[in-house]
Amino acid sequence: MPEKKLVCIVCPVGCQMVVSQNEEDIEKVSGNQCKRGREYAIAECTNPVRTVTSTIAVLNGELPVAPVKTDKPIPKQLISDCMREINQCIAQAPVRIGDIIIRNVLDTGSNIVATSNIGATGEIDDDKKLS
Ligand code: SF4
Repeated sequence: MPEKKLVCIVCPVGCQMVVSQNEEDIEKVSGNQCKRGREYAIAECTNPVRTVTSTIAVLNGELPVAPVKTDKPIPKQLISDCMREINQCIAQAPVRIGDIIIRNVLDTGSNIVATSNIGATGEIDDDKKLS
């Protein structure tokens, strides 16, 4: 029966797990100290997902790019397509943390959201405005 070794990344303990699986099912997970590790191992072997982080071009911004990420993990096999979508998109400044830059990317139910503020060129920061 094929075995796969995995390190659980759910918490800092980092249990080293072994997953035994046949062609259709997970037979056994060992080495995990809690059920979250088992759930992670099964997901990782059946439908691995990842949070994608990248940057997106910004038009008329104080900086030329803004950092972005998926607000939910997406299937690992869609990461390249997701990066292509991100690379084809240009956001208009100003960009605010949490702004949805691409909604429901690749029909995954996950949005590409900004993770930093990028002001527009010539925009005055609220804190610096004279009263
Ligand atoms: S199996 Fe449980 S204790 Fe071990 S790393 Fe995963 S979450 Fe942490």
